[in-house]
Amino acid sequence: MESIKYVLPENRMPTAWYNVQADLPQPLPPVLHPGTGQPVGPDDLAPLFPMELIKQEVSTERYIDIPEEVQQVYRQWRPTPLFRARRLEQLLDTPARIYYKYEGVSPAGSHKPNTAVPQAFYNKQEGVNRLVTETGAGQWGSSLSMACAFFGMECQVFMVKVSYNQKPYRRALMETFGASVTASPSVNTQVGRMILDEHPDSPGSLGIAISEAVEVAAMSGGTTKYALGSVLNHVLMHQTIIGEEVLIQLELADDYPDIIVGCTGGGSNFAGIVLPFLREKFSGKRQTRIVAVEPAACPSLTRGLYAYDFGDTGKLTPLTKMHTLGHNFVPPGIHAGGLRYHGMAPIVSHLKELDVIEARAEPQLRCFEAGMMFAKAEGIIPAPEANHAVRGAIDEALRCREEGVSKAILFNLSGHGHFDMQAYIDYQAGKLQDYEYPQEEVAMALAGLPSVG
Ligand SMILES: *Cc1c(COP(=O)(O)O)cnc(C)c1O
Repeated sequence: MESIKYVLPENRMPTAWYNVQADLPQPLPPVLHPGTGQPVGPDDLAPLFPMELIKQEVSTERYIDIPEEVQQVYRQWRPTPLFRARRLEQLLDTPARIYYKYEGVSPAGSHKPNTAVPQAFYNKQEGVNRLVTETGAGQWGSSLSMACAFFGMECQVFMVKVSYNQKPYRRALMETFGASVTASPSVNTQVGRMILDEHPDSPGSLGIAISEAVEVAAMSGGTTKYALGSVLNHVLMHQTIIGEEVLIQLELADDYPDIIVGCTGGGSNFAGIVLPFLREKFSGKRQTRIVAVEPAACPSLTRGLYAYDFGDTGKLTPLTKMHTLGHNFVPPGIHAGGLRYHGMAPIVSHLKELDVIEARAEPQLRCFEAGMMFAKAEGIIPAPEANHAVRGAIDEALRCREEGVSKAILFNLSGHGHFDMQAYIDYQAGKLQDYEYPQEEVAMALAGLPSVG
C-alpha cells in the first residue's frame, strides 16, 4: 500500500523545542539598545516581555522543555500530518518525491498557535493578564486571541488597515475569541497619529502596527505585555516542533529530504521546519539543500541589506542585525499579508550570511498559479503566504523532471487559505497584478537606517 500521510499518535509528540543557538558555527550578533548602541540586557526588554521569554531569547541550551500545560493545548491539533503529495507528483509528471507538512490543521489555520500558546502561557504564569500585538493577514492575531482565550487573558490586536478591510472574517474570528481589533494606523497611539498626519491614506504595514502595539505595552505600566508572532529567536524556537515531528514522520516513510522549501515573512515557519534538519547538517550526518522563498514585492533576504535596523516603523524596538528593506519601507499590498514585513529573523539572516541556506523571490501571480495547481491535486487551498513555498517546491520538482532525477522535496504548508478566498477570486478574475521591485522606495528606506554596528 502506498502511504499518503504519516500521522503520529499524541504520545509521540516531541516534548522539547530545539534551540539552534547551541549549534551555530558563529554566534548571533548582539541586539543593541537604540539610544546607547550597547547590547540590550534583560531589564531593557522587561517592559515588553515576561522574563522566561527573555531568557529563551538569549539561551544557548540545546533543548528547552515544553511545559506540560502547553503540550496539552498542542495536543488538540498536534502532531500535525505529513503528506506525500502523490497526486501533485502525478500532475507534474515528476520523478521527485514531494512531502508537505500541513500546519493548517490548527484551529487558527496556521503554524502560529505553536508560539502563541507558550507566549500566552509564560505571560500568565508571571501574572500578566493582557497582551497586545499586531497582525498582518490576521493569522497571528487569530492565534494569539485563541491562546489568550484558553488562558483567560485579554487581547488587543492592531490589524494592518489593508487586511482589516480585505479580511473581515479574520477580524470576526479574533472578536469571537474575545479580542478587540483596531485598524492600524489608528488614532489610539502617538505613533499612529503621527503616521496618519503625514499619510492619511496609509494602508498600514506590519512595521507600523508593531509600533502601535509596542507603544501600548510600554505605556501600560506593566499591566500589558507585547507578543510578536515571528522574527524573534524564541518564536523561531517554538516553531521547531514542526521539524522535530517531520524527522520522526520521515523515519516512518523511510525517506530523507534532499531539499527543504519554506516561505519567509519574518522567518518563523521556515525556521520551524528547517532548524531541526540543520542540526543534522551541522553535525555532518546529513546534507540537505534549504531554500527560502519570499515575495518579489518584499524581498528582504534576496535584496535587503544585512544591517542593524529597527523592527518597527516608529523606531521603538531594539536594533537587530538582519536583512532589511528599511523600517520605513511600506510593501505593496500583495495578498500574502503575512509576508509584508521589511525585515527578516536574525537567525534566518545569519544562516543566509553563513551560506547555509539559499533564498529566492517570487512574484505573486506565479505563486497563485502554483497554489491553484496544488489545490486541484491535493484538495487543500493554501494560504497566499504558503503559495510561495508551493511555488518553490513545484519548481524543484519540475527541475527533477528535466534532469530525470528522483529527489525528496519537503515543504512546509504553513496554513490554509479559507479566509483568503477573495484573493483567489481576484486571481481567477485576472484582477491580481505583479509589482515591480520597488527599488526607489527601498533605496529611500535604506537611507534611513540607524548608524550603529
Ligand atoms: C504569518 C504567516 C507566514 C509568514 O510568517 P513566518 O514568520 O515567516 O512564518 C507564512 N504562512 C502563514 C500561513 C502565515 O500565517
